[in-house]
Amino acid sequence: MVRQRVIVSPDTFIWTNGSHGIAYNSCTRTGYRFENTMSISEYIDIIQRPESLYSAIVPASVDKEAHTDLQLFINRLVKEGMAKIVADKEDIPLSLKPILKIQDDVSYYRWLNGQGIDGVVINNLHKIVVNLGSCNGSNLFACQSPFPIHDDVSILNAIKIKQFIKDSAQSSFLSEINIIGNPIGKFDEEFYAEIKSISPIRFSVLADDMGGNYDLIRKLQEFGKLELVIRVSTTLPQKVISLINKFPETDLYFIVENEEDIDLIHSIGIDGTTIGEIRILPIYNSTNKAFIMDTLAINEDDLLINGPDKRSIFIHESINIFDFGKLYIMPDGKVLSNMCSPAIGTIEENPKDIVYRELDRGKSWLKTRNNFSCAKCVFRSLCPSFSNYEKLLGHPLCTIYNDMN
Ligand code: SF4
Repeated sequence: MVRQRVIVSPDTFIWTNGSHGIAYNSCTRTGYRFENTMSISEYIDIIQRPESLYSAIVPASVDKEAHTDLQLFINRLVKEGMAKIVADKEDIPLSLKPILKIQDDVSYYRWLNGQGIDGVVINNLHKIVVNLGSCNGSNLFACQSPFPIHDDVSILNAIKIKQFIKDSAQSSFLSEINIIGNPIGKFDEEFYAEIKSISPIRFSVLADDMGGNYDLIRKLQEFGKLELVIRVSTTLPQKVISLINKFPETDLYFIVENEEDIDLIHSIGIDGTTIGEIRILPIYNSTNKAFIMDTLAINEDDLLINGPDKRSIFIHESINIFDFGKLYIMPDGKVLSNMCSPAIGTIEENPKDIVYRELDRGKSWLKTRNNFSCAKCVFRSLCPSFSNYEKLLGHPLCTIYNDMN
Protein backbone atom coordinates (compact mmCIF):
# COMPACT_ATOMS: atom_id res chain seq x y z
CA MET A 1 0.00 0.00 0.00
CA VAL A 2 1.34 3.45 -0.97
CA ARG A 3 2.16 5.59 2.00
CA GLN A 4 0.42 8.88 2.32
CA ARG A 5 1.93 12.26 3.01
CA VAL A 6 0.47 15.44 4.50
CA ILE A 7 1.71 18.53 2.67
CA VAL A 8 1.04 21.78 4.48
CA SER A 9 0.37 24.83 2.30
CA PRO A 10 3.12 27.51 2.23
CA ASP A 11 0.39 29.99 3.21
CA THR A 12 -0.25 28.15 6.47
CA PHE A 13 1.35 29.10 9.74
CA ILE A 14 1.39 26.73 12.71
CA TRP A 15 2.41 28.23 16.04
CA THR A 16 2.58 26.32 19.32
CA ASN A 17 3.51 26.94 22.91
CA GLY A 18 3.09 24.18 25.45
CA SER A 19 -0.41 22.81 25.15
CA HIS A 20 -1.65 25.75 23.00
CA GLY A 21 -1.54 25.82 19.24
CA ILE A 22 -2.86 27.92 16.37
CA ALA A 23 -3.18 26.98 12.72
CA TYR A 24 -3.63 30.02 10.48
CA ASN A 25 -4.36 30.26 6.78
CA SER A 26 -2.85 33.55 5.59
CA CYS A 27 -4.71 33.29 2.28
CA THR A 28 -8.21 33.18 3.74
CA ARG A 29 -6.94 35.10 6.80
CA THR A 30 -8.67 32.75 9.20
CA GLY A 31 -7.40 30.33 11.78
CA TYR A 32 -8.31 28.23 14.78
CA ARG A 33 -6.88 27.10 18.08
CA PHE A 34 -6.06 23.50 18.83
CA GLU A 35 -4.83 21.60 21.82
CA ASN A 36 -1.20 20.78 21.22
CA THR A 37 -1.09 17.23 22.60
CA MET A 38 2.09 15.18 22.73
CA SER A 39 1.38 13.32 19.47
CA ILE A 40 0.40 16.52 17.61
CA SER A 41 3.45 18.34 18.92
CA GLU A 42 5.80 15.58 17.75
CA TYR A 43 4.12 15.53 14.35
CA ILE A 44 4.39 19.32 13.93
CA ASP A 45 8.04 19.07 14.88
CA ILE A 46 8.61 16.66 11.98
CA ILE A 47 6.65 18.86 9.55
CA GLN A 48 8.67 21.94 10.48
CA ARG A 49 12.12 20.41 10.10
CA PRO A 50 13.79 22.05 7.06
CA GLU A 51 14.45 18.70 5.38
CA SER A 52 10.73 17.77 5.61
CA LEU A 53 9.73 20.50 3.12
CA TYR A 54 6.69 21.31 5.26
CA SER A 55 5.28 17.82 5.02
CA ALA A 56 5.23 14.50 6.87
CA ILE A 57 4.22 10.90 6.24
CA VAL A 58 0.81 10.06 7.64
CA PRO A 59 1.74 7.69 10.46
CA ALA A 60 0.68 4.10 9.87
CA SER A 61 -0.97 4.17 13.26
CA VAL A 62 -3.36 6.88 12.06
CA ASP A 63 -6.58 5.35 10.84
CA LYS A 64 -8.92 7.60 8.84
CA GLU A 65 -11.87 6.44 10.82
CA ALA A 66 -10.19 6.63 14.20
CA HIS A 67 -10.83 9.81 16.13
CA THR A 68 -7.40 10.14 17.62
CA ASP A 69 -6.17 13.65 18.39
CA LEU A 70 -3.56 13.45 15.60
CA GLN A 71 -6.10 12.20 13.03
CA LEU A 72 -8.50 15.01 13.98
CA PHE A 73 -5.67 17.51 13.71
CA ILE A 74 -4.74 16.32 10.20
CA ASN A 75 -8.40 16.18 9.10
CA ARG A 76 -8.99 19.74 10.24
CA LEU A 77 -5.91 21.06 8.42
CA VAL A 78 -7.19 19.46 5.22
CA LYS A 79 -10.77 20.63 5.77
CA GLU A 80 -9.67 24.24 6.28
CA GLY A 81 -7.61 24.17 3.07
CA MET A 82 -4.31 24.37 4.95
CA ALA A 83 -2.96 21.00 3.87
CA LYS A 84 -3.57 18.17 1.48
CA ILE A 85 -2.89 14.46 1.58
CA VAL A 86 -1.12 12.89 -1.40
CA ALA A 87 0.39 9.54 -2.23
CA ASP A 88 4.03 9.55 -1.09
CA LYS A 89 5.72 9.16 -4.48
CA GLU A 90 8.89 10.74 -5.79
CA ASP A 91 7.18 13.62 -7.59
CA ILE A 92 5.29 14.99 -4.61
CA PRO A 93 4.63 18.72 -4.79
CA LEU A 94 7.13 20.82 -2.81
CA SER A 95 6.13 23.15 -0.04
CA LEU A 96 8.11 25.43 2.26
CA LYS A 97 7.40 26.75 5.70
CA PRO A 98 6.83 30.53 5.39
CA ILE A 99 9.94 32.30 6.71
CA LEU A 100 11.39 35.76 6.33
CA LYS A 101 14.36 37.00 8.29
CA ILE A 102 15.13 40.71 8.30
CA GLN A 103 17.82 39.94 10.88
CA ASP A 104 19.92 38.75 7.94
CA ASP A 105 19.93 42.32 6.69
CA VAL A 106 21.11 43.56 10.07
CA SER A 107 23.93 41.00 10.07
CA TYR A 108 24.81 42.13 6.56
CA TYR A 109 25.01 45.77 7.65
CA ARG A 110 27.19 44.74 10.60
CA TRP A 111 29.49 42.87 8.25
CA LEU A 112 29.72 45.84 5.87
CA ASN A 113 30.39 48.15 8.77
CA GLY A 114 33.19 45.86 9.94
CA GLN A 115 34.70 46.21 6.45
CA GLY A 116 34.48 49.99 6.67
CA ILE A 117 31.69 50.15 4.05
CA ASP A 118 28.49 52.13 4.61
CA GLY A 119 26.25 50.08 2.37
CA VAL A 120 22.73 51.36 1.91
CA VAL A 121 21.79 51.40 5.57
CA ILE A 122 20.39 54.92 5.16
CA ASN A 123 17.65 53.47 2.92
CA ASN A 124 15.97 52.19 6.08
CA LEU A 125 15.14 55.79 6.93
CA HIS A 126 11.65 56.71 5.68
CA LYS A 127 10.43 59.61 7.75
CA ILE A 128 11.87 62.48 9.79
CA VAL A 129 9.71 64.00 12.51
CA VAL A 130 10.79 67.41 13.82
CA ASN A 131 9.10 68.09 17.15
CA LEU A 132 9.35 71.82 17.80
CA GLY A 133 7.50 71.67 21.12
CA SER A 134 4.87 74.08 22.38
CA CYS A 135 3.85 75.62 25.68
CA ASN A 136 0.53 73.75 25.15
CA GLY A 137 2.38 70.49 24.50
CA SER A 138 2.47 67.30 26.57
CA ASN A 139 5.27 64.73 26.75
CA LEU A 140 2.79 61.96 27.57
CA PHE A 141 0.60 62.76 24.55
CA ALA A 142 3.64 63.18 22.29
CA CYS A 143 4.48 59.50 22.92
CA GLN A 144 1.17 58.47 21.40
CA SER A 145 0.31 60.99 18.69
CA PRO A 146 1.62 63.86 16.54
CA PHE A 147 1.44 66.11 19.60
CA PRO A 148 4.18 68.62 20.46
CA ILE A 149 6.16 67.96 23.60
CA HIS A 150 5.93 70.56 26.34
CA ASP A 151 8.78 72.92 25.52
CA ASP A 152 9.25 76.62 25.08
CA VAL A 153 12.98 76.86 24.54
CA SER A 154 13.90 75.02 21.38
CA ILE A 155 17.60 75.20 20.52
CA LEU A 156 16.92 73.90 17.03
CA ASN A 157 18.02 76.21 14.29
CA ALA A 158 17.19 76.15 10.62
CA ILE A 159 20.74 75.39 9.46
CA LYS A 160 21.09 72.27 11.62
CA ILE A 161 17.68 70.92 10.68
CA LYS A 162 18.30 71.54 6.98
CA GLN A 163 21.66 69.79 7.09
CA PHE A 164 20.19 66.77 8.90
CA ILE A 165 17.35 66.54 6.38
CA LYS A 166 19.69 66.95 3.41
CA ASP A 167 21.84 64.10 4.74
CA SER A 168 18.70 62.04 5.33
CA ALA A 169 17.73 62.52 1.70
CA GLN A 170 20.48 60.04 0.79
CA SER A 171 17.78 57.52 1.61
CA SER A 172 15.90 56.65 -1.55
CA PHE A 173 12.85 55.96 0.58
CA LEU A 174 12.60 59.20 2.55
CA SER A 175 8.96 60.06 1.95
CA GLU A 176 7.91 62.67 4.50
CA ILE A 177 9.16 65.39 6.83
CA ASN A 178 6.63 65.84 9.62
CA ILE A 179 6.93 69.13 11.48
CA ILE A 180 5.05 68.95 14.78
CA GLY A 181 4.37 71.86 17.10
CA ASN A 182 4.08 75.57 16.99
CA PRO A 183 5.92 76.85 13.90
CA ILE A 184 5.00 80.50 14.48
CA GLY A 185 8.08 82.67 14.14
CA LYS A 186 10.46 79.70 14.11
CA PHE A 187 11.62 79.59 10.50
CA ASP A 188 11.34 81.70 7.37
CA GLU A 189 9.73 80.84 4.05
CA GLU A 190 13.07 80.02 2.46
CA PHE A 191 13.54 77.26 5.05
CA TYR A 192 10.22 75.60 4.20
CA ALA A 193 10.79 75.99 0.47
CA GLU A 194 14.15 74.25 0.78
CA ILE A 195 12.75 71.39 2.87
CA LYS A 196 9.86 71.00 0.45
CA SER A 197 12.33 70.62 -2.42
CA ILE A 198 13.80 67.60 -0.59
CA SER A 199 10.65 65.82 0.58
CA PRO A 200 6.91 66.43 1.05
CA ILE A 201 6.13 68.20 4.34
CA ARG A 202 3.30 67.51 6.75
CA PHE A 203 2.63 70.09 9.46
CA SER A 204 0.91 68.81 12.60
CA VAL A 205 -0.13 71.90 14.51
CA LEU A 206 -2.15 72.14 17.70
CA ALA A 207 -5.39 74.00 17.11
CA ASP A 208 -4.66 75.68 20.46
CA ASP A 209 -1.44 77.12 19.04
CA MET A 210 -3.04 78.23 15.80
CA GLY A 211 -5.81 80.34 17.31
CA GLY A 212 -7.25 82.60 14.61
CA ASN A 213 -3.98 82.99 12.72
CA TYR A 214 -5.49 82.36 9.32
CA ASP A 215 -2.58 83.92 7.42
CA LEU A 216 -0.19 81.43 8.93
CA ILE A 217 -2.47 78.53 7.98
CA ARG A 218 -2.55 79.74 4.39
CA LYS A 219 1.22 80.12 4.39
CA LEU A 220 1.87 76.64 5.75
CA GLN A 221 -0.49 75.14 3.20
CA GLU A 222 1.69 76.58 0.44
CA PHE A 223 4.51 74.36 1.61
CA GLY A 224 2.84 71.18 2.70
CA LYS A 225 -0.16 69.32 4.03
CA LEU A 226 -1.59 70.77 7.21
CA GLU A 227 -3.04 68.61 9.96
CA LEU A 228 -4.80 70.33 12.85
CA VAL A 229 -4.30 68.42 16.09
CA ILE A 230 -7.30 68.97 18.30
CA ARG A 231 -7.36 67.98 21.95
CA VAL A 232 -11.12 67.65 22.16
CA SER A 233 -11.49 68.20 25.91
CA THR A 234 -9.70 71.57 25.85
CA THR A 235 -10.36 72.90 22.38
CA LEU A 236 -13.71 71.91 20.97
CA PRO A 237 -15.98 73.28 19.85
CA GLN A 238 -15.65 77.09 19.62
CA LYS A 239 -12.22 77.78 18.07
CA VAL A 240 -12.11 74.72 15.91
CA ILE A 241 -15.44 74.97 14.18
CA SER A 242 -14.55 78.31 12.63
CA LEU A 243 -11.14 76.94 11.57
CA ILE A 244 -12.76 73.91 9.94
CA ASN A 245 -15.30 76.03 8.10
CA LYS A 246 -12.60 78.34 6.79
CA PHE A 247 -10.16 75.58 5.81
CA PRO A 248 -12.23 72.52 4.89
CA GLU A 249 -9.30 70.83 3.13
CA THR A 250 -7.26 70.64 6.35
CA ASP A 251 -6.79 67.19 7.88
CA LEU A 252 -8.22 66.87 11.39
CA TYR A 253 -6.63 64.77 14.11
CA PHE A 254 -8.90 64.54 17.12
CA ILE A 255 -7.33 63.49 20.42
CA VAL A 256 -9.96 61.86 22.62
CA GLU A 257 -9.64 60.93 26.30
CA ASN A 258 -13.11 59.59 27.10
CA GLU A 259 -16.49 58.69 25.62
CA GLU A 260 -17.77 62.25 26.02
CA ASP A 261 -15.02 63.51 23.72
CA ILE A 262 -16.20 61.12 21.02
CA ASP A 263 -19.81 62.21 21.49
CA LEU A 264 -18.72 65.83 21.20
CA ILE A 265 -17.04 65.23 17.85
CA HIS A 266 -20.19 63.60 16.51
CA SER A 267 -22.37 66.39 17.89
CA ILE A 268 -20.60 69.15 15.95
CA GLY A 269 -21.49 67.45 12.66
CA ILE A 270 -18.27 68.03 10.71
CA ASP A 271 -18.72 65.08 8.37
CA GLY A 272 -20.19 67.09 5.52
CA THR A 273 -18.16 70.27 6.03
CA THR A 274 -14.63 68.96 5.64
CA ILE A 275 -12.91 67.33 2.72
CA GLY A 276 -9.66 66.59 4.55
CA GLU A 277 -8.96 63.33 6.37
CA ILE A 278 -10.49 62.91 9.82
CA ARG A 279 -8.76 60.74 12.41
CA ILE A 280 -9.81 60.05 15.97
CA LEU A 281 -7.13 58.80 18.34
CA PRO A 282 -7.70 57.62 21.92
CA ILE A 283 -4.96 58.93 24.21
CA TYR A 284 -3.85 57.59 27.58
CA ASN A 285 -3.73 60.51 30.03
CA SER A 286 -2.73 58.48 33.13
CA THR A 287 -6.29 58.43 34.54
CA ASN A 288 -8.30 56.81 31.72
CA LYS A 289 -7.00 53.23 31.58
CA ALA A 290 -10.53 51.79 31.32
CA PHE A 291 -11.33 53.97 28.28
CA ILE A 292 -8.09 52.96 26.54
CA MET A 293 -8.82 49.31 27.17
CA ASP A 294 -12.39 49.65 25.90
CA THR A 295 -11.23 51.22 22.67
CA LEU A 296 -7.93 49.45 21.97
CA ALA A 297 -8.02 46.08 23.71
CA ILE A 298 -6.95 43.13 21.62
CA ASN A 299 -9.45 40.33 21.44
CA GLU A 300 -7.51 37.17 20.64
CA ASP A 301 -10.44 35.50 18.89
CA ASP A 302 -10.88 38.46 16.52
CA LEU A 303 -7.32 37.86 15.30
CA LEU A 304 -8.43 34.48 13.95
CA ILE A 305 -11.16 35.98 11.78
CA ASN A 306 -10.01 38.37 9.12
CA GLY A 307 -6.50 38.48 10.60
CA PRO A 308 -3.36 39.71 8.84
CA ASP A 309 -2.15 38.44 5.46
CA LYS A 310 1.20 36.71 4.96
CA ARG A 311 3.10 39.90 4.26
CA SER A 312 1.76 41.57 7.42
CA ILE A 313 2.67 38.52 9.49
CA PHE A 314 6.26 38.71 8.26
CA ILE A 315 6.31 42.39 9.04
CA HIS A 316 4.95 41.80 12.57
CA GLU A 317 7.64 39.17 13.10
CA SER A 318 10.47 41.35 11.84
CA ILE A 319 9.98 45.00 12.64
CA ASN A 320 7.91 47.38 14.68
CA ILE A 321 5.57 49.02 12.17
CA PHE A 322 4.93 52.04 14.39
CA ASP A 323 8.62 52.94 14.65
CA PHE A 324 10.54 51.37 11.80
CA GLY A 325 12.17 53.94 9.54
CA LYS A 326 11.34 56.99 11.68
CA LEU A 327 13.70 59.37 13.47
CA TYR A 328 12.40 62.10 15.79
CA ILE A 329 14.31 65.35 16.27
CA MET A 330 13.57 66.95 19.65
CA PRO A 331 13.66 70.68 20.54
CA ASP A 332 16.95 70.10 22.46
CA GLY A 333 18.64 68.60 19.39
CA LYS A 334 18.45 64.98 20.55
CA VAL A 335 17.34 62.33 18.05
CA LEU A 336 15.07 59.45 19.10
CA SER A 337 13.92 56.31 17.33
CA ASN A 338 10.78 56.12 19.48
CA MET A 339 9.11 58.95 21.37
CA CYS A 340 9.12 56.94 24.63
CA SER A 341 12.79 55.91 24.41
CA PRO A 342 16.07 57.60 25.33
CA ALA A 343 17.99 59.47 22.62
CA ILE A 344 19.93 57.41 20.11
CA GLY A 345 21.88 60.36 18.67
CA THR A 346 21.89 64.09 18.10
CA ILE A 347 21.13 66.40 15.22
CA GLU A 348 24.87 67.16 14.93
CA GLU A 349 25.49 63.63 13.61
CA ASN A 350 25.05 62.15 10.18
CA PRO A 351 21.65 60.34 10.15
CA LYS A 352 23.21 57.28 8.53
CA ASP A 353 25.27 56.70 11.71
CA ILE A 354 22.10 56.94 13.81
CA VAL A 355 20.23 54.55 11.52
CA TYR A 356 23.05 52.02 11.77
CA ARG A 357 23.18 52.43 15.58
CA GLU A 358 19.43 51.81 15.84
CA LEU A 359 19.60 48.68 13.67
CA ASP A 360 22.71 47.42 15.44
CA ARG A 361 21.78 47.99 19.07
CA GLY A 362 18.66 50.14 19.24
CA LYS A 363 15.52 48.96 20.94
CA SER A 364 12.70 50.40 18.85
CA TRP A 365 12.71 49.64 15.12
CA LEU A 366 13.16 45.90 15.62
CA LYS A 367 11.06 45.63 18.77
CA THR A 368 8.58 42.90 17.99
CA ARG A 369 6.39 40.83 20.25
CA ASN A 370 9.13 38.20 20.22
CA ASN A 371 11.18 40.33 22.56
CA PHE A 372 8.53 41.55 24.95
CA SER A 373 6.40 39.74 27.52
CA CYS A 374 4.42 38.33 24.56
CA ALA A 375 7.44 36.20 23.58
CA LYS A 376 5.71 32.92 24.41
CA CYS A 377 2.20 33.76 23.24
CA VAL A 378 0.93 31.84 20.20
CA PHE A 379 -0.77 35.01 18.93
CA ARG A 380 2.41 37.06 18.76
CA SER A 381 2.70 37.00 14.95
CA LEU A 382 -0.96 37.91 14.51
CA CYS A 383 -1.08 40.79 16.99
CA PRO A 384 -0.26 44.30 15.79
CA SER A 385 3.23 45.59 16.61
CA PHE A 386 4.10 46.48 20.18
CA SER A 387 2.81 50.01 20.84
CA ASN A 388 3.70 52.93 23.05
CA TYR A 389 0.36 52.46 24.82
CA GLU A 390 1.70 49.18 26.13
CA LYS A 391 5.00 50.79 27.03
CA LEU A 392 3.19 53.45 29.07
CA LEU A 393 0.77 50.97 30.67
CA GLY A 394 3.53 48.43 31.35
CA HIS A 395 1.64 45.38 30.00
CA PRO A 396 0.33 43.96 26.73
CA LEU A 397 -3.13 45.29 25.95
CA CYS A 398 -4.75 41.86 26.19
CA THR A 399 -3.32 41.27 29.68
CA ILE A 400 -4.62 44.55 31.01
CA TYR A 401 -7.99 43.86 29.44
CA ASN A 402 -8.15 40.38 30.97
CA ASP A 403 -7.17 41.78 34.38
CA MET A 404 -9.95 44.37 34.22
CA ASN A 405 -12.69 41.93 33.16
S1 SF4 B 1 -0.75 41.26 23.13
FE1 SF4 B 1 0.87 39.75 23.45
S2 SF4 B 1 0.12 38.37 25.03
FE2 SF4 B 1 -1.63 39.50 24.20
S3 SF4 B 1 -2.49 38.21 22.57
FE3 SF4 B 1 -1.04 39.63 21.61
S4 SF4 B 1 0.89 38.52 21.59
FE4 SF4 B 1 -0.43 37.48 23.03
